[in-house]
Amino acid sequence: MTTSDYIYKLVRVGEILGLKFVLHDQSLPKNVAGRICYRKKTVRINEPCAEDALMIVAHELGHFFHHLRNKDRKIGRDKREISAYLYGWGLLKRIKAPISKEQWIGIHS
Ligand SMILES: [Zn+2]
Repeated sequence: MTTSDYIYKLVRVGEILGLKFVLHDQSLPKNVAGRICYRKKTVRINEPCAEDALMIVAHELGHFFHHLRNKDRKIGRDKREISAYLYGWGLLKRIKAPISKEQWIGIHS
């Protein structure tokens, strides 16, 4: 399995939930590696390193899982980021992605 295979595993999870993915979106600002739009149900990624892209996809999907469970609640940004961190890590573990906890923590610090 290559890193791209793991990315596509997560993309398929998102697609089943109705999300669309743009994996090389250079219209994102340079300092933004990924973004999710709930209204358009779109995840856009702009991260050239495959391992980092895998983690960004997991993070954005983490946001979506959190969103699905908290649609009608107003939740602060810090709590949303913590949820994306936790859900995203759970997704990576579920697909047995070769990402270490140190890498996951690293991309979030
Ligand atoms: Zn986030």
